[in-house]
Amino acid sequence: MQSVKYPFLTKEDNDVYKALVGEDARERDGLELIPSENYVSQAVHEALASSLTNKYAEGYPGKRYYGGQEFTDAVETLAITRAKKLFGAGYANVQPLGGANANIAMYFALLSPGDTVLGMELSHGGHLTHGHPVTYLTKIFNFVRYGMKDIETGEIDYEEMRRVAREVKPKIILAGFSAYPRELDYAKFVEIAREVGAIAVMDIAHIAGLIAGGAVKNPFDYGFDIMTTTTHKTLRGPRGGMILTRESEDLAKKINKSVFPGLQGGPHMHNIAAKAVAFHEALQPSFKNYASQIIKNARAMAEVFEKQGARMITGGTSNHLILLDAHTSFGISGGEAQALLDRAGITLNKNVIANDTRKPMDPSGIRFGTPALTTRGFIEDDVVQVATLMIDVLTGRDDGAVARAREGVHALARQHPIPSSFIHR
Ligand SMILES: *Cc1c(COP(=O)(O)O)cnc(C)c1O
Repeated sequence: MQSVKYPFLTKEDNDVYKALVGEDARERDGLELIPSENYVSQAVHEALASSLTNKYAEGYPGKRYYGGQEFTDAVETLAITRAKKLFGAGYANVQPLGGANANIAMYFALLSPGDTVLGMELSHGGHLTHGHPVTYLTKIFNFVRYGMKDIETGEIDYEEMRRVAREVKPKIILAGFSAYPRELDYAKFVEIAREVGAIAVMDIAHIAGLIAGGAVKNPFDYGFDIMTTTTHKTLRGPRGGMILTRESEDLAKKINKSVFPGLQGGPHMHNIAAKAVAFHEALQPSFKNYASQIIKNARAMAEVFEKQGARMITGGTSNHLILLDAHTSFGISGGEAQALLDRAGITLNKNVIANDTRKPMDPSGIRFGTPALTTRGFIEDDVVQVATLMIDVLTGRDDGAVARAREGVHALARQHPIPSSFIHR
């Protein structure tokens, strides 16, 4: 007989229990295509549920404010050592609570109020924390932008970037993105940063796992000074952030001070333990296969959409994600496409595209990717089926098309269980 799931929660708090088993079933039965999501392993889940959630550990290993730090020091030191090895970094701060927190701490470490950051145009793939007017960061720092020269190829306009950099003299040149399907010319970024005396920072939040697995280039190999990241996207760890410094002890010290006591209080030690576990997993040879399979799968999906004549921004993908113009390709908005696919059990998100003809709250694009499906063991043949189901829904658009796709989705989900038994048991 199967044991009761969450035996204590069932008795103590049935309302939360119901929400949790609901989410478990949603993740188990549907297909996750949001490119910033993934499924953690059973081992990562166990670390997240550990007693370390009870412990205060303000400070850093060997330099804590409170006592009783034997085991917190052990896990944080493991996380730091493994992170450094994974990315070829001289220093790592594993305490940021998320990717946004990592970026905020990085800005406060390196900038004074009023200083300038040169970052990627948000509608071309940049992130909110790279200077969107809705963030409070723009009340403190000055953000200027570079973008793509050619939306059909995705090439960044490096000459324009150099011209603007010379003009505004940024303290930071920021590379990195949330919705850009190509690799950047890292050497160019560093060259321009050196020319104007800026610090070169890459936000690898989306592609950290691809870098760790050796499937794409490592910006540190091209001289980037700092990398910020999340740990829960392609890197497949718990929700969280991290800041890596290539070699400057001075920069690393500023970053440590900025994270704590500058911005955060006690670090979430259960989460840092889970980061250590995830980094250990990413150091295994099998993670290389995982990272390269993510890209193979994304390319296989892009080919299906290309055959269909759909318009993809930059014409396809070289990483884990695809940005598709649903408006031009299927005559519906990104939001309508998202809602239709949701009903079929396929989860993705609407997204602004460069030079969008629709409004930001109701954009033309959809963004989707393969990190989560690849964790479930999907290979090219499987994702081709997923892409075909998506096209059936987006062209059919009636209840019948949705219901038929939903059956296909359930069959694929059943064939590929989620790794952690926290979910599938
Ligand atoms: C996701 C993301 C972030 C923010 O991470 P959170 O953990 O959601 O705070 C920052 N930068 C980029 C490029 C991202 O894709």
